[in-house]
Order: sequence, then structure tokens, then C-alpha cells
Amino acid sequence: MELRIEELNESELKEKRLDDLSFGVHFTDRMFVMEYDRGKGWHSARITKFQNFSLSPATMAFHYGQAAFEGLKAYPREGSKVALFRPEENFRRMNVSADRLCMPPIDEDFVLRCLEELIRLERDWVPRGEGQSLYIRPTYMGVDPIIRVRASDKYLFFIILSPVGAYFKNGFSAARILVETEYSRASQGGTGYTKFCGNYGASLKAGQAAQVNGYDQVLWLDACGHKYVEEVGSMNIFFVIDGKLVTPKLQGSILPGITRESTIILARDLGYEVIERQIEIEEVIEGIESGNVQEVFGTGTACVISPVGTLGYRGKDYIVNGGQVGEITQHLYKELTSIQYGTTEDRFGWIRIIE
Ligand SMILES: *Cc1c(COP(=O)(O)O)cnc(C)c1O
Repeated sequence: MELRIEELNESELKEKRLDDLSFGVHFTDRMFVMEYDRGKGWHSARITKFQNFSLSPATMAFHYGQAAFEGLKAYPREGSKVALFRPEENFRRMNVSADRLCMPPIDEDFVLRCLEELIRLERDWVPRGEGQSLYIRPTYMGVDPIIRVRASDKYLFFIILSPVGAYFKNGFSAARILVETEYSRASQGGTGYTKFCGNYGASLKAGQAAQVNGYDQVLWLDACGHKYVEEVGSMNIFFVIDGKLVTPKLQGSILPGITRESTIILARDLGYEVIERQIEIEEVIEGIESGNVQEVFGTGTACVISPVGTLGYRGKDYIVNGGQVGEITQHLYKELTSIQYGTTEDRFGWIRIIE
């Protein structure tokens, strides 16, 4: 397939607002789009002006949620260069989501090349301050204008870009997380391992209740018995227990985070022991009280690594490590962001530089 690049006039370009980098509010001048029709396959790959779509109110994704997304970042490098962090993993995961939702696979290599071309055209939109980046949002949805419950015959895949500020604006601060004991995010046999859009709609109720009560996010437990730790809304979770890193093992309901996997590889390389296993919430709570659970942190593209300072559980707050950011959390954050921003050598081959 060929990629068509539409020229934009100078007058069509937006004023670059790189002073207000509120997450996900501002978008760049261009986007990537491609379409699929059963029988014809993928077609009309193009980089166009960032603009509205014209879609029928009957569009399938609006009604039945046949849609998935991805999230990754482009990091500023010297001059006007830009670095992508393991982008092939995002497109691989997009195809895992697509398969679960009966959507045809995308050509991962082709889409990655199109993303690189898009970033090359939009490189002036990459904010260059400390901790800043260009957030990349690939999205994929079924767009048959037919309200029948079945897999669509037409699809839309697009990538939009949004400049974002540093996640930790006031220093590396510890999050307050509420352990959710009523609602569930995902269950065995469900869609938890995919970035299916409906997972996020379904999570809002619990997230809102947590925020009303002064917490930042929710820690989900298994849907079956609310006994085992799963993950946070957009982050995987790690515990430092007796000096070892412990994280819930992937078993279908947890999103396999790319930051999670990178943290495991990096931590092992740095000499830490990492264990993936089932973790009971009771073990965590008792461990925080006894001091065996020394640190808690989340991992995800948005924050990279976010320390957790408080776990609220059944009406009580449990303070981790006296509310201080732990040493291992700090160490892993520094090492991982150094690879992303290029102040450390890319020894795992995770970086793709766009010249
Ligand atoms: C995206 C996401 C993560 C983090 O994945 P990364 O690939 O590290 O960004 C974790 N949990 C959920 C539910 C997510 O949607």
C-alpha cells in the first residue's frame, strides 16, 4: 500500500501551543488515516490535516464499541531528532486487541513506517522541556453504518498526536490509590488483556468514586473474589517485598503493559530479582503494616513509573514506606527515563530514532 501525503498550506497550520500541555487537549496539524473494506482490504492510507470525520449515526463502533486504541510517546532528542520507545510493541498489541474484537489485522511494519513519517512532518510539535513528550494515539474502530450486532465490514484506523507536559509537575510525588472491593475491571475470558475502549468506559464509575474520596486512582482486584491484585486503571503495579520486585502475573484480565515488561527486563539487568505471581491483597496490606512491603509503584506510558504512597483499603489508609518515594522506585524511574530521553545508552535496542 502506498502512503499519500496531503500538502497543508501555511494558513492551515495551527499556532503551536506548547505552553499549555494539559494531557490530551491539543493536537498537531496532521493525522494518519487508513480504511478497510471487506473484500478490498486496507486502502487509502494518507497523512492529512487533523480534521473531523463524517460518520453515520449508525456507525457500529458508536453502538457496540468495536474499537481499541494504543498509547505511546515520542521523546525529544538532540537537534530536531525524536525517539520512539518500542513502538513495534504497541502495534503488535493493537493486533492482539483487534483479534479479540474480530477486527482484521493491521500491517504492523507499514503502520510503523507511516507513524514515523507523520512524526517527521510534525517534529516541531514535540515539546523539548524536561519530561515533556508527544503522546501518540493510534485508534481502530468498526464503522459499518449498520446497527446489527456482528463484526463490521468497514474499518477506520487513525493516529493522532498530542504534545504533553511532564507527568510529575511538582516533583516525583507519591499517588494515593484506593483498593476497589466492589466493582471489577476485567474478568477471565473477557477483554482485560486488550486496550478495548469499553474497558475504560466501564472503569469510570469506580474511578470517580475514588476521586470524590481523595484518591487518584483505583487498584483493581480479580473479578471473581476481589482477593488478588490486578492493576491500576492505566498502570500495572509492582511491589518491593523483602527487596525483591513482585508484580501480578499476566493471566488474561491484566493489560500486558510495555512499560511493565520493560521494567522487568531493566530491573533484572540492574540486578534485582523480579517475580511474577499471584499476589493477595491481604498479603500486601499486612506487608505494608509489617514493613515487608517496602515500596509500591505503577508503570505505564503516561507516567513511566509512578510511586504509590497510600493504599486505601476497606476504610483505612495504609502508608507505604512512611509516604516517601522508595529507592528502587527512584532508581528504576531514573534508568528507564534515561533510556527514553537518551542520556543513557539504549542497551536493549528499545529506541527508534527519527532523524
Ligand atoms: C495502557 C495500559 C497500561 C500500561 O501499558 P503501557 O504499555 O505500559 O503503557 C496498564 N493498564 C491498562 C489498563 C492500560 O490500559
